[in-house]
Amino acid sequence: MTELLPAELSVPIRQTSKKLLPADLDKLDHLLILVPKGLAAKAWSQLPFPELLKKLSQRDPEGVVSGRFANASATGFSLAVLSPEATVFERLTLARKMTAVASKEPVLGLLAHGFASGLQGSALDALVSAALAAAARMPSLKSKQKRERRIRSLKLFAVKELPDLKLRQAEAQGNYLARWLTTLPPNKLNSAAYCRLVKKLAKSEGWDYRLLGQKELEKEGAGAFLAVAQGNPERDAGIVHLKYRPKKPSEKLLTLVGKGICFDTGGTNLKPHGAMLDMHEDMGGSAVALGSLLAISRLGLPRPVDCWLEISENMIGNRAYKPQDVITASNGVTIQVIHTDAEGRMALADTLALASRDKPGLMIDYATLTGSCVRGLTTRMSAIFSNRDYWREPLIEIGRASGERVWPFPLDEKDFDQTLESPIADIKQCTTDGMGDHIYAARFLRRFVPDSIPWLHIDLGACSHEGGLAHIPTQITGFGVRLTLELLSTGLPKTARES
Ligand SMILES: [Zn+2]
Repeated sequence: MTELLPAELSVPIRQTSKKLLPADLDKLDHLLILVPKGLAAKAWSQLPFPELLKKLSQRDPEGVVSGRFANASATGFSLAVLSPEATVFERLTLARKMTAVASKEPVLGLLAHGFASGLQGSALDALVSAALAAAARMPSLKSKQKRERRIRSLKLFAVKELPDLKLRQAEAQGNYLARWLTTLPPNKLNSAAYCRLVKKLAKSEGWDYRLLGQKELEKEGAGAFLAVAQGNPERDAGIVHLKYRPKKPSEKLLTLVGKGICFDTGGTNLKPHGAMLDMHEDMGGSAVALGSLLAISRLGLPRPVDCWLEISENMIGNRAYKPQDVITASNGVTIQVIHTDAEGRMALADTLALASRDKPGLMIDYATLTGSCVRGLTTRMSAIFSNRDYWREPLIEIGRASGERVWPFPLDEKDFDQTLESPIADIKQCTTDGMGDHIYAARFLRRFVPDSIPWLHIDLGACSHEGGLAHIPTQITGFGVRLTLELLSTGLPKTARES
C-alpha cells in the first residue's frame, strides 16, 4: 500500500427480471438467497436444489445456512429466512452474516425470492449493501502483499423491485473512504498527510479546497483549536474547508463538520494504555464527514455542501495546553480548560463557529467525542443532539430507516449550563466528574452555533463495534454516511419560520 487513498470500489451490478436458471448458477461463485418466513411449497420448488435448501432452512430457521450446490461449478450459497417484522437494522445484520462466507467469492448472485409486493426491494437493498461493504478491502501494510480474492461483481436475479443501486454504490464508496481513513495507522495519517490527501481527493472530485493553517487560524483568533494543536511537534495542524457546488443548486447550504484528531494521547492529562490504544480512530468523525461529502458529490445531489475538517493531533510535551489555561475561541467565548483529553470539543468549537459564518440551512457535526456516550448507549448506536427539539422523533425514525440508529439526548435544558459555569471564564470546557459528559459536550458546543442555524451533533459511539455493525463487516464501521444520505432524502420537518 503506497497510496493513502483507497482504490475505487468498482463492483459492477447487473440485474435481470428473469429467474435464475441452472446455466446462470454455473457462472456464479456464490449465491445469496433470502426468502420470507413461511415460503410456500411452490415457491421453494422454484429455487435451485429446493429439497436441500428447504431441509437446511428447517434445521436453522433463524440463522444463515451455507454450503455448496452439486452443480458443475460447485457454486457456494448462503440462505436465510427473513421475518416480515425485521427492522432495517436486523435485515442489514442478516445480510452481513450471509455475506460473511462469500467475501472471497468474485462473482456473487443475489436472489430475494417469494416476497410479497413491497418487500423484495428492501430485501435486495440489504443484500446489495452488505455485498458492497464486504467488497471493500481495508489498508494492509504487510511486506508481502497477497492478491486476495474478493467480491468483484454482483448479479441480481428475478428482480421485480429494484433498490436504488446508484445510491447504494455512492454510499458504499463514501463509507469505504471513511472506514479506510479511520483504519490507517497514525504515523501514516498524521495531520500533514491527512491535509495532503484531502487536497488530492478534492482535486479529483472537483471540490474547492482551502486549508486554514496555523497562521490563518491565529488571525481568526481560533484559540480553542490552536490550544489543542500547540502540543504538536510540527506546526501542520489546520482546518480544511471543502466546497461542493452542484451545477444547478436548488437547496440551502448543507454544512458537514468533522472531528479529525489523528491521534489522541489525551494531552497533558495523558490517557492510560488501554484507553489510548485505538486513538488513531479519533479522526473518525472527519472521515464520516468526508465520506458523506463524497457520496453526495458522486450522486450529484442538487444541494451545495461545505465540509469543514478540524485536523490535528492531541499530543503531550512542553508546549501542550494544560488544565486551568483560559482560551479565547474565534467567536470571543473564553473557555476554562478542565481536562486536556476533552480536546475534541475545543477543536470543534472554533470549527463550528467558523462554519456558522456562512449561515448554512443545516449543519451536522460528526465526532468520536465522549466515552460517556458509549457508556450510555454502547457502540451499537450513536447519540444525536439537535437545537431543534421537534426533530427528536424524526431523527429516531431516520436512524431506524437507515439501519444506522441514533438516539437523542437532551440539549435544551438550561440547568445543565449551571454545571458549566466558570468562575474565571465564560464557560468551563467540561465537568470534573465526567458524568453525562456527552450532554455537557453538546451543551458546550452549542455556545459556538447560533440558534438561527438548525444543527445536529452526532457523538459517534458506533464508530467502532466489535464484529461489525448492521451490513458493515469490519470493526470500524464508517457509521454516519448512510444515516446522512437517509436524512437528506427524507428531510427534516420545518417550522413555518424556516420553510
Ligand atoms: Zn480526547
